[in-house]
Amino acid sequence: MADKSLVTEMHQVQMAIELIELGARLQVLETETDLSRARLIKLYKEVRGMSPPKGMLPFSTDWFITWLPNIHSSLFYNIYQRLVEDHGCERMEAFVRAFKLYLEQLALEEAEPVLGLTRAWTLIRFFESNLLELCKCTGCSGHYVVHAHTPSRDFVCGICQPPSRAGKTRKRRAEVKDSPKAAAADDRASQLLVKRRA
Ligand SMILES: [Zn+2]
Repeated sequence: MADKSLVTEMHQVQMAIELIELGARLQVLETETDLSRARLIKLYKEVRGMSPPKGMLPFSTDWFITWLPNIHSSLFYNIYQRLVEDHGCERMEAFVRAFKLYLEQLALEEAEPVLGLTRAWTLIRFFESNLLELCKCTGCSGHYVVHAHTPSRDFVCGICQPPSRAGKTRKRRAEVKDSPKAAAADDRASQLLVKRRA
């Protein structure tokens, strides 16, 4: 810490503030910056006006595969990948930009975001650990988040083959809680993803 340049430290503080504003949990900040836990907690309190929540980060890859989260996760990851691969963005810069673009897209479509910042970060980490990968849908040619080693030959995405209405309602109740715009959001997010890949 002692020999770290002031400029580097300032950049890290700026990034931490941006991440906190976007909803990052403390673990994200601790992993992605060299700032001490004490400083991060102080920063968090200043930015959010409250102590950071305690508890573990979401841990399972399964959430990203369920229907609505999968559509949102796929949309976000496609944006992120494009920023890294096509625009040469550095990893965390791409992450923050992709998350903002994801929120902007949904706001334009008046759809509710399903993917929080910490979830989005977990998603990137799962890809980096090769637990998740993208798979091309044989129906719409969009690229969707799947578990690693999912057979890709006959893969059909959740937009081309939505679950039955009963399953959808039950799932949505569990995942989106009481969002009144959820139904419209689903459809719009679906259209969005297909549009983006077209
Ligand atoms: Zn499809």
